[in-house]
Amino acid sequence: MANMISLIIPCYNEEESFAPLYEKLCSISKDMKERYGVAFEFLMINDGSRDDTLSKIKEVAHLDSRVKYISFSRNFGKEAAIYAGLQNCNGDYAVVMDADLQHPPDMLPLMYESIVTEGYDCATAYRENREGEPKIRSFFARNFYKLINKIAQVKMTDGATDFSMMTRQVVDAILTMPEYNRFYKGIHSWVGFETKWLPYKNIERAYGTTTWSFTGLFRYSMEGILSFSTAPLVIASLMGIFLFFLSLLVISYVILRTVFFGDPVAGFPTLISVILFVGGGQFFCLGIIGQYISKMYLEIKRRPAYLIKDSNLH
Ligand code: UDP
Ligand code: MG
Repeated sequence: MANMISLIIPCYNEEESFAPLYEKLCSISKDMKERYGVAFEFLMINDGSRDDTLSKIKEVAHLDSRVKYISFSRNFGKEAAIYAGLQNCNGDYAVVMDADLQHPPDMLPLMYESIVTEGYDCATAYRENREGEPKIRSFFARNFYKLINKIAQVKMTDGATDFSMMTRQVVDAILTMPEYNRFYKGIHSWVGFETKWLPYKNIERAYGTTTWSFTGLFRYSMEGILSFSTAPLVIASLMGIFLFFLSLLVISYVILRTVFFGDPVAGFPTLISVILFVGGGQFFCLGIIGQYISKMYLEIKRRPAYLIKDSNLH
């Protein structure tokens, strides 16, 4: 049988994008079928959309047997949608892509060739520029990548997207990571394998609006740091050690001063500042430890990453 590519597409309130996306996918898959003889499966993950996305998908699924869908019982987030897609795809190759056409489907032939002819395990798109993105968002994004590459065990490329094609072997490797707190970019990098990086120009969203708010992105980057680095815990210990030595210095100073100059009753403000300083440090460290404990708490509960309400898979 011919090779099959599974396109995994998380959709959250994408009723406007869906028709143009489907049209585009049809023409690309027709081209690729003629050129490489490869078959397609479109796996749409409806992540609890509040608009008409699901009925639009169902309409098409009725007419086109390549269209499969999984619909969640509520919004579980893009990470959960990607996970569901990877768990349920049947292709020899899997592609994760956004529904809003910001991940140009025109890159699919290039990705396919990188894997099949050049022998890479993954082909991942990265944005050459961050045009059309708010300046402040670019600033934080760039610094987030700088920071995470310094402190985490995995390397993450700035501008790397989730848009990537991978072999079945890589899909299976990713599926061996059953963690609840998922950070796909980190997971993808953690499993290793040879990745070909393909540049593309950032395109603005043509339909609908982005669902990422600034706080949402901030939480997502914290997720990345906490899932792939324990460096913040080291900061906590280093701070403890620093404060310990500082207090030794201050104590020796106080003892020496008492011995040589007597002990005038003073230093109350100093005392208060030291207490505040040490107290602040302790709260800071407790906060860091608390972040990890809260992640462990969620992990230990073993809750499913998503719940399916409706699907045409089985
Ligand atoms: N998405 C999702 N669940 C969510 C938020 C987003 O499945 O809770 C999907 C969305 O439909 C789109 C992709 O994830 O296909 C990327 O979302 P978006 O375009 O809002 O993000 P951006 O491109 O701004 O990073
Ligand atoms: Mg987008």
